[in-house]
Amino acid sequence: MPQAQLVRGRFAPSPSGRMHLGNLWSCLLAWLAARSAGGEMVLRLEDLDPDRCRAEYCDQVMRDLEWLGLDWDGAPMYQSRRTEAYAAAFETLGKRGLVYPCYCTRAERLAASAPHRSDGAVLYDGRCRRLPPEERKTLAKTRRPAWRVQVPKKTITFCDLIQGEYKEELTGDCGDFILRRSDGVYAYQLAVVVDDGAMGVNQVVRGSDLLDSTPRQLWLQEELGLPHPQYGHVPLLLAPDGRRLAKRDRDAELGQLKERYTAPELVGRLAHAAGLIPEYAPVTPEELIPLFSWDKVPREDMKFSIEME
Ligand code: GLU
Repeated sequence: MPQAQLVRGRFAPSPSGRMHLGNLWSCLLAWLAARSAGGEMVLRLEDLDPDRCRAEYCDQVMRDLEWLGLDWDGAPMYQSRRTEAYAAAFETLGKRGLVYPCYCTRAERLAASAPHRSDGAVLYDGRCRRLPPEERKTLAKTRRPAWRVQVPKKTITFCDLIQGEYKEELTGDCGDFILRRSDGVYAYQLAVVVDDGAMGVNQVVRGSDLLDSTPRQLWLQEELGLPHPQYGHVPLLLAPDGRRLAKRDRDAELGQLKERYTAPELVGRLAHAAGLIPEYAPVTPEELIPLFSWDKVPREDMKFSIEME
């Protein structure tokens, strides 16, 4: 990214429930990375999956960000309203012969809206790409396919702001991935690339659980003629027993936290864990702007308990 370019970061929460500590952590760091560079911050509500996302959660996410003191520029983008843009990108890839129908029943599962391969998703072996036309026709009579993109044998390398160099060989580490589910919903990987491009995002700061999605996204950007943003994958906050914090951890959920803490208290605890303040003290995001530096932020996932801070 040329030095003169204005940083444009983004929040991209999935409104499938209340935000939790892990979301607040990545939102705070994404906001600080953009604002400390004098940059802009945009908001995209990743409400692609109609089974999991609800309009009231979108409103709640925005109220929660505001309550914390994290603001954004311009109107929010809703992925649920972006089907045409995804369809156009899907068509572009299809015209290039890169897209094929997949009739495997596991397909739906593999198209999780934010995939985590460490959670057990498996590499797809390209079975449906090699289906004889007759067999494909027979399957098409009874099943609606998901749609996959065929990845080339290519190594994608990039330098992450926090994790350093990271690379994947697309066929061996990633495999053909889903662009559109069998129920017609476009997959996270496609939507995120199309939207980051449309929003002019040039700095993506998010949880390191998405690190292994980045090579796929960089490759899709190339195929769609979109610029590459800079990426920074922040370490994950773990529960005191070492598990990843999840939406099911009720005490880490913002609804519960708001009853016990003020916004500056919460932000102060996260800022202390991020190494931005030497000792815990209540603080606003605004006050942290001059203190922010990636050099201070830990690289490894860390156990975090709001009580311990
Ligand atoms: N919507 C995803 C999440 O909340 C984040 C996607 C991204 O940052 O690319 O986990």
